Amino acid sequence: MIKLEKPQFDQDKIIEDCILNMRDGTGSPKERISASKAEICRKSKGYDELAEEGRLSTLTLNTKIAGGATKDDMIKLYDNKFARKGERGRPYYDAIKLLAPFGRCPFCGQRGVQTLDHYLPKAKFPVFAVTPFNLVPSCSDCNHDKLSETFNSYNEETIHPYYDDFTDAVWIKAKLIEEDPVTFEFYVDFPKEWEYIKYERAKNHFEKFNLNDLYKLQACEEFQGCFFRLKRLVEKGGKELAIEHLEESIEEKEHIRLNTWQAAMYDAIIQSDWFWDEYLPNQ
Ligand SMILES: [Zn+2]
Repeated sequence: MIKLEKPQFDQDKIIEDCILNMRDGTGSPKERISASKAEICRKSKGYDELAEEGRLSTLTLNTKIAGGATKDDMIKLYDNKFARKGERGRPYYDAIKLLAPFGRCPFCGQRGVQTLDHYLPKAKFPVFAVTPFNLVPSCSDCNHDKLSETFNSYNEETIHPYYDDFTDAVWIKAKLIEEDPVTFEFYVDFPKEWEYIKYERAKNHFEKFNLNDLYKLQACEEFQGCFFRLKRLVEKGGKELAIEHLEESIEEKEHIRLNTWQAAMYDAIIQSDWFWDEYLPNQ
């Protein structure tokens, strides 16, 4: 859900760099990849155009690559020449990882970037195994949750951090569960300025990456510290002072990013009469 700048690397140069120190020879992977280079570049350009139009889901599964490079060739190219430390493709890998501001995973917005995710999986779309537009900085958990996923329609597509902008409205919301101990449930709200399909995609993304579970867990701990401060503020200046503090905290979070679980949680606290009238006074 964090929007990233699209990587601007030359696909042709990436392949040249990656195959440079591979073994030559008739029938070698290097020969096949070389012969497929023009096709890979053409497909990479096509990927960018389709993604810009929100039509990646129209791509049909295809492991055949004109020129002769096999799925295995492309997966090994990624693993051994692009992602492996010290290899010639690795500077591209590292540069793409750095596209995520503050090193935050753009899929969950919470954990740190540890790897690159193939937005379209390399086992199903090997032609995009080393295509920068298809390689997104990711945390290990999100990378794992998305494993081998393909999409049948636009509304099934998870958010693509290079092409989709979901930062134009507040859509991550939370509800305070009115029981002791206090917990929170996070959900996707439908912003009125959105079309329904955008809401469906946000929901799909939220579920696919189990974001409610992730945020709930974080919120439990955050709430402990937050509660301590709110209680003190209520003693000092009443509920108004405590709410003012929460509103300022929301502003601070929204200044960095419009959708965070923290802002959603603070807002859920403000909205709960039970919290202010029953829970807090009795603690
Ligand atoms: Zn993540």
